[in-house]
Amino acid sequence: MTHTAELIAVGTELLLGSIANTDAQMISQALSALGINVYYHTVVGDNPARAKAAVEIAKRRADIIITTGGLGPTCDDLTKQVLAEAFGKKLVFHPESAKKMEAYFAAYLPHRTITENNYQQVMLPEGCTVLDNDWGTAPGCAFEAEGVTVIMLPGPPRECRAMLEHRVIPYLKGMSDGVIASRTVKLFGIGESSMEARLRERMASMTNPTMAPYAKEGECEVRITAKAPTSEQAQAMLDPVEEALRREFGDLVYGVDVPSLHARISALLREQGLTLSTAESCTGGLAAKRMTDLPGASQVFCGGVVCYTNQVKRDVLGVSQNTLDDFGAVSPQTAAELAQGVCRCTGSDIGLSFTGVAGPDPDEGKEVGLVYIGLAHGEQVWVKEVHLGTARDRVRNSAVLHGFDMVRRLLTGLDVV
Ligand code: ATP
Repeated sequence: MTHTAELIAVGTELLLGSIANTDAQMISQALSALGINVYYHTVVGDNPARAKAAVEIAKRRADIIITTGGLGPTCDDLTKQVLAEAFGKKLVFHPESAKKMEAYFAAYLPHRTITENNYQQVMLPEGCTVLDNDWGTAPGCAFEAEGVTVIMLPGPPRECRAMLEHRVIPYLKGMSDGVIASRTVKLFGIGESSMEARLRERMASMTNPTMAPYAKEGECEVRITAKAPTSEQAQAMLDPVEEALRREFGDLVYGVDVPSLHARISALLREQGLTLSTAESCTGGLAAKRMTDLPGASQVFCGGVVCYTNQVKRDVLGVSQNTLDDFGAVSPQTAAELAQGVCRCTGSDIGLSFTGVAGPDPDEGKEVGLVYIGLAHGEQVWVKEVHLGTARDRVRNSAVLHGFDMVRRLLTGLDVV
């Protein structure tokens, strides 16, 4: 059976816009990976009547309700009372949770005295499963009533994340009468709408496994999820779907279950014993930052030069003055010389360069969003010209992704441009 979940975030500060509902984003992502449909996100203030009304609505349209926030000791922390009332349950003192809370205070908050209202946190709905909170003082809880599974989580994102991972996901997996497996197929070089158009018919006819496309910062991904009695069976159901996606999208697929394009090229560089370096003008070091975000980067990444001025392009990376005079800094010729120059400078096997107009104003009479990306390897050099729109951050981010994709293509034996 496919479950339908609704998330209810309790907190007036969410309604006022003082904070964003990041808990909901995090929980939705986890539920979708489990193949659970999330149809509604509700946000309600610290008001018992309105919170109760929200729960009554959720009961009618979801069989899993997950709340966040309002589990603390203050009088506006009302979630448990509201949920208990909505499902006709009493709140009862939970001695073991009280002991845990006392131990948490002793270990992490030794200068704080436990007040009477702290004990409100350990008044839990009768018969519930307590979700121990090792990351804060308020325990979460879960119960089933009237055909609905109710799960209550603390609001602070750090606690909510840990509880989600260590308590809720295992709880939900235990509820299911089968095993859910999923894979994420990552693509670069196709827009979200064309990807969706190519998948639409297939997706509409699928129930198990299912397919869900997502777009993320210039990249796309398709998550495929299968449910079966055993993990092996679920994985076997995913194989032909992954195969079909690989056939459909060919070399646009850069990996399955890999965290990012730069993680993929790092792995390829490591496997092939090669090193990379970067010469970045318009991207200002973003490519180098991404490469060095990964632990162990020094094995594959030699270094990067942010060559913003022509002087640095010429004096540090050896771009010839003639090239700069004749073609300009934003030119295929400069991109090529930058990529070769950074290899010379750092001793890396591969050099990747970016020179372009990130905006908001045109430069050298060249349009905003025009970027030349150079790739040098041994005697070979390639340059790709891309047009990436007018939003500065987007131009920089997309340029870096295009550059990484060129490296990926080189290392997997595909045509680089
Ligand atoms: P506490 O024990 O800290 O009181 P709680 O479970 O009662 O936790 P709230 O008091 O509702 O949670 O929220 C505590 C803090 O957690 C909020 O001030 C806010 O910073 C953060 N928070 C609450 N709900 C969310 C949410 N949905 N998304 C992101 N942050 C949230």
